[in-house]
Amino acid sequence: MTSLPRTTDLFVIGGGPAGLAAAIAARRRGLDVVLADCSVPPIDKACGEGIMPDGLAAARTLGLDLDLDLKAAGGHRFAGIRFVHRDTAVSARFPNGHGMGLRRTDLHSLMVDHAIDAGVRLAWGVRISGITPEGVMAGDRFVRARWIAGADGGHSPVRRWAGLDACHRESHRFGFRRHYRVAPWSEFMEVHWGETCQLYITPVSAEEVCVVLITRDQHQRLDHALPQFPELAGRLTAASATTLQRGGVTVSRRLKSVWRNNVALVGDASGSVDAITGEGLCLLFQQSVALAAALETGSLAEYQEAHRRIGRHPEFMADMMLLLDHRRLLRARAMRALAGSPAIFEKMLAIHTGEFSALNLIAAGLALGWEMLTV
Ligand SMILES: Cc1cc2nc3c(=O)[nH]c(=O)nc-3n(C[C@H](O)[C@H](O)[C@H](O)COP(=O)(O)OP(=O)(O)OC[C@H]3O[C@@H](n4cnc5c(N)ncnc54)[C@H](O)[C@@H]3O)c2cc1C
Repeated sequence: MTSLPRTTDLFVIGGGPAGLAAAIAARRRGLDVVLADCSVPPIDKACGEGIMPDGLAAARTLGLDLDLDLKAAGGHRFAGIRFVHRDTAVSARFPNGHGMGLRRTDLHSLMVDHAIDAGVRLAWGVRISGITPEGVMAGDRFVRARWIAGADGGHSPVRRWAGLDACHRESHRFGFRRHYRVAPWSEFMEVHWGETCQLYITPVSAEEVCVVLITRDQHQRLDHALPQFPELAGRLTAASATTLQRGGVTVSRRLKSVWRNNVALVGDASGSVDAITGEGLCLLFQQSVALAAALETGSLAEYQEAHRRIGRHPEFMADMMLLLDHRRLLRARAMRALAGSPAIFEKMLAIHTGEFSALNLIAAGLALGWEMLTV
């Protein structure tokens, strides 16, 4: 815990992954950075704990090589994604490396260490109660700041204070996470599609998996949902739960603007895609790099543009996934089509993890459409 200075170049509000990533990125550009969070590390949160290959690559641009840190931090690699729907399954390997499952608290500890090494001044257990054009009210102190980054999560007070709540669209689902002591049974991160929800499984160590329920029903819980997934129920009821169930809201939100004057939003504060995409961490790593570049040139309009570009593709994929969640018949047809033509699933996964081109997308869309008409 650092005592707060009187003045800084950048004050980051929120010390989750987005705040830490933004602070590290800004330090790498030579800014003096203070970060404050009302909690104390390691901070936990309901999260599927899967980082896709593009997320690992984005973390590397911050000097955060999670592969190198794998031994120290724990974590487990996965080779690709497997979709399961009733008795149909389809899987594909990532074309560009592997993903990683990493306990949220381990990721947080690792990022805190990197922030300290980078020279970020960290203040834990400090609630921010307001901002002005000159700075930030942190606990009982006022800290003057040239720039302010709101990395204070989905409910972001900073977003409200800066008048940035207006959004193009917003929808909510509910997520519940629990860990089980069981050796991962698959080299993939698995998404199991049920009638009213999805369960996804991320291997986080050689003997533990993270299970997340995503549902539109806020009263549903893992134990209620499991009977929809007999294969999983068999595996998980034989295993012991190692953590309590932790809930959260997953929001699909696109803001009209992510900055005003000297305030910029980053991470979930700046909008988010549904958790089913597994792209939240990747997005915030990429946004942090873009924000630091914009702070260096002094143009937050540049950040707005980069933020829009970074979000476009995950938002599209999230829309596709939510369509499958909504439409039972479409879901059944799409799963059968993908299982019958795994090469299309492979191509879609490649697009999902950043091997993206408009041409790829059109080709995959047409191929999937054709398969769905003919299965
Ligand atoms: C159920 C679920 C599953 C998910 N699964 C995945 C997945 O598998 N892979 C993936 O990449 N993403 C996943 N995500 C998304 C990912 O978890 C989020 O994108 C990520 O946690 C956002 O981090 P953040 O730092 O922006 O916000 P947060 O982690 O919410 O951090 C915000 C911080 O701000 C602090 N704060 C708030 N207000 C104040 C204040 N006034 N003063 C001081 N501090 C304050 C809070 O204490 C908190 O530490 C999932 C999300 C959910 C809900």
